[in-house]
Amino acid sequence: MTAKDDLYARYQGAHTAHREHQSACGDCTDTSRCPAGQRLFERFATLQDAYLNRQRPKRR
Ligand SMILES: [Zn+2]
Repeated sequence: MTAKDDLYARYQGAHTAHREHQSACGDCTDTSRCPAGQRLFERFATLQDAYLNRQRPKRR
C-alpha cells in the first residue's frame, strides 16, 4: 500500500465518519454543526484538501 492509498483510505474514513455522525446527530444540519460534528468535518476537510492537492487534477 502506498502513502497515497493510505491518505485516500483515511480521507474516505473521515468522510464516512462525518456522514454517519450527521445522520445520527439531532443537532447537525447542512448549515450548523455540534462541536463533535465540527471536529469530524474539519478532519474530513483537512484530509480532503491533502488528498486533492496530491491528485493535482488537470484543469479543463
Ligand atoms: Zn453532531
